[in-house]
Amino acid sequence: MKFYGDYHTHSHHSDGRQSVRDIAAAAQKKGIREVAVTDHGPHAAVIGVKNENTYLEIREEVEAINADHEFEVTVFIGAEANIKSLQGDLDVSGQVIAQLDLLIAGLHPYTKPTAVEDGIGIWVQNSLRHFGKGQREKAKNNNTKATVEALYRHPEIDILSHPGLFFAVDMEEIARSCIKNEVLFEINCGHEHPDLSDIMIVNKLGADFIVNSDAHFPETVAQLAYGENIISRLGIEPDRIANCWEGGEYDDKTSNRPTPAHHYRYVRRRQDTDYKLP
Ligand SMILES: [Zn+2]
Ligand SMILES: [Zn+2]
Repeated sequence: MKFYGDYHTHSHHSDGRQSVRDIAAAAQKKGIREVAVTDHGPHAAVIGVKNENTYLEIREEVEAINADHEFEVTVFIGAEANIKSLQGDLDVSGQVIAQLDLLIAGLHPYTKPTAVEDGIGIWVQNSLRHFGKGQREKAKNNNTKATVEALYRHPEIDILSHPGLFFAVDMEEIARSCIKNEVLFEINCGHEHPDLSDIMIVNKLGADFIVNSDAHFPETVAQLAYGENIISRLGIEPDRIANCWEGGEYDDKTSNRPTPAHHYRYVRRRQDTDYKLP
């Protein structure tokens, strides 16, 4: 299986150790055609972008690189937004999301909660999870609820990043919400997550996947071997993977190429005549 794009990387605008240009160069070197720069939302303490206007600066860098044609790689601007409350609020506003090519959302540690109850609901509960089964279940329920709410409330979300990493979730419920909301379930190669048994559950339910690196360094951009291995072991059909060549979703002749996530949504919604490619 070969992948034509990597849609989850971090630059030094958040916690990556690479510039946007480094990411484009690394993608070219690895032989992929598309790469997205998706820095952490501002609410992730220490690791996030300074504020959401940073995305507009990154966007300018991305546009300049694409206009230069120095690389045979199309660079996209995205964000990895934090799910920051039990109600599924994100830390990137609709106004900024509208200027992005794609949107990833996920749960992350050290995210500043929006309200005291949210702090108790997700982050404190998760730190109490070591104290016994009851607390553990409660934490898992809250993490699942926050994620499901986010997927239903934000139709702009294209990809759910590393479901279950850092925070335990109910995989079946998460998979069903991804299917219902046409969100790609991420196989995250940087964290080698989720593990085979969870992906097996999600696969059986019928969710569609995307395989990403979550690279913070040029060396790991487009390093997608973990996903490739899992996919072949489980025998997942290529057309269920949004970013692989064999899925046939990539149209080389289209000059204004959509991201696979957008393309995927377009394919799913093509009966809906009002839906236009971004
Ligand atoms: Zn993440
Ligand atoms: Zn990430």
